[in-house]
Amino acid sequence: MAPAQPETVPAVILRTRPLGDADLVVVLMTPTHGKVEAAARNARKSRKRFAGGLSPGMRGNASIARSARSTSALLRLGGFEPTALHADVGRDLTRFAFVAYVCELTDELVLGQQPDPKLFSELCAVLEIILPGTLDARAPGPAVLRRYELVLLRELGLLPALRQCAVCGRTARAPVDTRVAFEARHGGVLCAEHGSRATRLDATVVAVAAALSGEHTDAAGLAEIDQRPPGFRRGLRDVTYGVLRQHLRRPLRSLALFRQLAIGGPRGSED
Ligand SMILES: [Zn+2]
Repeated sequence: MAPAQPETVPAVILRTRPLGDADLVVVLMTPTHGKVEAAARNARKSRKRFAGGLSPGMRGNASIARSARSTSALLRLGGFEPTALHADVGRDLTRFAFVAYVCELTDELVLGQQPDPKLFSELCAVLEIILPGTLDARAPGPAVLRRYELVLLRELGLLPALRQCAVCGRTARAPVDTRVAFEARHGGVLCAEHGSRATRLDATVVAVAAALSGEHTDAAGLAEIDQRPPGFRRGLRDVTYGVLRQHLRRPLRSLALFRQLAIGGPRGSED
């Protein structure tokens, strides 16, 4: 429950939409209140109170409070103090597309106001990789998106079976260089008995997805995945996006950016 008195909380902006002539509704992810919507009064007319702007992917401290009309579910956004570099993101289309995708995916999959500090810190971590203190270095490859997709699924309790059969729980025998039965709509990996008609995937791809969904993945591990052959990366993308698609109510708008940029997003140039 959000406070009646203004409270300052760490937040990531996921989306904004116009409200009337002058206001904006800002969809925020917070560690303590989950996903909330707050009205930023005059944000479209006056640049003073939100001098740093209000763009998707921005990390900062948000001052939020329940509306004076307490019947309204909409909170009030009193201010937003950015805590990380963001202004230059439009200059780098890869980073821009990655940020748009991460924000839209989070917004689509996180439905309620359940506090989830772990998911919040993973969201901040992926944004930190995409938008570090300086944008001089090369933009990250798509492995960082695969990691975030899997972590998001894990935190929301939607992660498919990646090691044991989704039906019977037996370990699906799959030595390296073989193929393993996998059906997203049947819960993930399947054993020989339950997956006799299922799609077969490269067992290494599924093993890497399982590792990425775990607690820790370092930058070197992600870079190593980005250097693997296109077929491998395409397989990994198809595993994660095949699962995500089961939970999305509509196609994501940000995927159009990947198509335009041909940068290996969920439906990118590797098709
Ligand atoms: Zn089975």
